[in-house]
Amino acid sequence: MDYVDNILGTIGNTPMVKMNRLVADLPCLVLAKYETFNPGNSVKDRMALQMVEDAEAAGLLKPGGTIIEGTSGNTGMGLALAAVIKGYKMICVISDKQSKEKVDVLKAMGSEVYVCPTDVAPDDPRSYYSTARRLAEETEGGWYVNQYDNPSNAKAHYLSTGPEIWEQTDGKITHFVVGVGTGGTVSGVAKYLKEQNPDIKVWGIDTYGSVFKKYHETGIFDDNEIYPYVTEGIGEDILPKNVDFSLIDGFTKVTDKDAAVYTQRLAKEEGMFLGNSAGAAVKGLLQLKEQFTKDDVVVVLFHDHGSRYVGKMFNDDWMRKMGYID
Ligand code: PMP
Repeated sequence: MDYVDNILGTIGNTPMVKMNRLVADLPCLVLAKYETFNPGNSVKDRMALQMVEDAEAAGLLKPGGTIIEGTSGNTGMGLALAAVIKGYKMICVISDKQSKEKVDVLKAMGSEVYVCPTDVAPDDPRSYYSTARRLAEETEGGWYVNQYDNPSNAKAHYLSTGPEIWEQTDGKITHFVVGVGTGGTVSGVAKYLKEQNPDIKVWGIDTYGSVFKKYHETGIFDDNEIYPYVTEGIGEDILPKNVDFSLIDGFTKVTDKDAAVYTQRLAKEEGMFLGNSAGAAVKGLLQLKEQFTKDDVVVVLFHDHGSRYVGKMFNDDWMRKMGYID
């Protein structure tokens, strides 16, 4: 018989899939690290489990405890999976720009969900960062996960995602391209890959309205870079400790419109039904064309599944309303 003890045993070991039509203009081989095969349909299952198990080992999370996190949905899903199997309560605090599907899914997994306004500063008491912190203080046995600054986030990718990519490309990977939010994925994978081969280049995908690119290029945290944007999952108005800028060779920014249009194109041209940050990642990859040569092996990581975006990027009425399609 061939089985795992529970659903957590299916996290990781995701496939690598060659991209074809959408990247036909690029000279190199492009491979997609396809993270929707995780049980929560996103890469975040990896770091959620790592954070929970490290918190248990450190005595921060005790039997009967409550896991509390400010999450755009995918981390909440991963944490909810761990909470169900390990017997914890789960509270997710999210911002009101997140898709309704993400809220419904979290509730389906037994999580309580609090929705906070997006357009307030991170230190405003109404923000989802502040609300999550406050709930953790007020809840007995509450543990605030803090995926932005929790080192177990990047560690999960250093221990699993990075080694998988290295092995699946037989050590031939030359470039890694990935959307950056908390920074856990980029930093953990980059650290592992650059330890194997320091010549590997790592590119972060950022959005307009986020501070990463400017900060990486100038060292300046520029408030003028911060404004509301539509793209989900990537970009920040803070500098999370999990973003290790020294491991990233460069950032490229993708517009909300391009990210949305390319999310649709991934489905229609590659059969890849993926989330909005995958659209941003593939458009960013195309913007980096000049970086690649014929013998390069470029890996792009796709974080989550299209089902969470059926009311938005996969809804033509929404796309028209936003002015993204005619
Ligand atoms: N894409 C999606 C859909 C996400 O949920 C996230 C996490 N915020 C990211 C990309 C970015 O990943 P990371 O937080 O590891 O930088």
